[in-house]
Amino acid sequence: MRRLSALYRGALTQIDAAIVHRRHGSSCLVLVVALWPPLALLCLMQLYAAAHPWASQHYRSEWMVPALWLQAALLAWLAAMGCLGWRHRRCEERMPWLVQATVVPALWGMAWLSVAHGLKDSPMGMMLLVALVGARALFTLRRLCWAFGGALVIVVGAEVLTSMGLLPASPMLSHPIAMGGELAPWWALWVRLVFNAAALPFSGMLFYLAGTVHRRSRELETLVRTDALTGLANRREFMTCLQRESHRHARSGRPLSVVLCDVDHFKQVNDRWGHPAGDAVLAHIGRILRASTREAVDTAARYGGEEFVLLLPETDVHGAIHVAEKIAVALREQHVIVDGRPLRVTQSVGVAQVVDGDTEWALKVADRNLYQAKLAGRDRIVASVAFASTSASEEAASWP
Ligand code: GH3
Ligand code: MG
Ligand code: MG
Repeated sequence: MRRLSALYRGALTQIDAAIVHRRHGSSCLVLVVALWPPLALLCLMQLYAAAHPWASQHYRSEWMVPALWLQAALLAWLAAMGCLGWRHRRCEERMPWLVQATVVPALWGMAWLSVAHGLKDSPMGMMLLVALVGARALFTLRRLCWAFGGALVIVVGAEVLTSMGLLPASPMLSHPIAMGGELAPWWALWVRLVFNAAALPFSGMLFYLAGTVHRRSRELETLVRTDALTGLANRREFMTCLQRESHRHARSGRPLSVVLCDVDHFKQVNDRWGHPAGDAVLAHIGRILRASTREAVDTAARYGGEEFVLLLPETDVHGAIHVAEKIAVALREQHVIVDGRPLRVTQSVGVAQVVDGDTEWALKVADRNLYQAKLAGRDRIVASVAFASTSASEEAASWP
């Protein structure tokens, strides 16, 4: 059971690597694994028919042997390409030769088989469609131009020749499958098997594709909202949250506070220890901010280079000062280790509580408080309630 689930997870990883990362090895492997069983089934059914006169009467005898040889060659070739895909399944390098060697015979072969069995009055049209959509999910259009172009020429060419009376509607068959009456038992079985062999993987593939696209778009959404270095929200996400919370604050009347933090003398950290050490310090501060705020309620964001901002809903100025103090204590206690030595940094912090719903003004007040904290000697918190009317009505307090 565990083996089976490992196999299943392994298969999903391959499909993901093929669809999302479009690794050529994986994509070729997945295409062969998807197309080989229905193609083999088709070939086996013809082999069976060749050995049983009640079924073989439905095929044109002069086409039967060359068609079987061609299909056997196609299956052997695709199996070889599948093996190569398996060998290179983790390879990040582009392998256009492998892609062409896989998709061109696969799609041309499918197109030819579809035309030979009757494109419109048999499930072969559906099989061809599955192959085309599957190939498009796995490869870029540029890689598929030869395969798609050739398949189109085969299909359109056959249509033209059939309409001119130069080619029978299903050249491999002694008479078309559907003649208006009931299907002969052989064709009833054949249609059911071929149809299911194409329809089931096709539905599975579409479901999987939809899931992959959904997952991928969520990953991208997260990336767009996240600061890569610290893992915190970025400035854009912060502004979105600020707008949302200011509406909520205006509706509910509950307090809302903003906290602006700026690392002290950060330029010296870079100059003395190097840029990578500076980056490590920023990532460290990001971790402290995340640990010091409420998940899914507060927003901790990177506001600029070495500036951070917290948005604290349902928190008054005293609560915000408490959070800022918690962060200052964590910064004092938890050091970043650079070259085996602990590196200590401090922050100056400006806190403002939004009162009249004017978050823009609150940010300005927090920024001014931050500036006051810098002027007063850094490593301290300056806080006030940001009444929108005049700055004279603010009560400002400093916590060294
Ligand atoms: P103050 O105490 O007045 O804030 O001094 P400061 O040196 O921190 O302020 P200043 O604005 O002069 O310098 C900020 C520095 O932050 C300059 C810039 O190179 C650095 N910085 C900005 N973003 C990054 C970053 O992503 N990584 C690193 N390593 N440094 C950064
Ligand atoms: Mg700064
Ligand atoms: Mg600074």
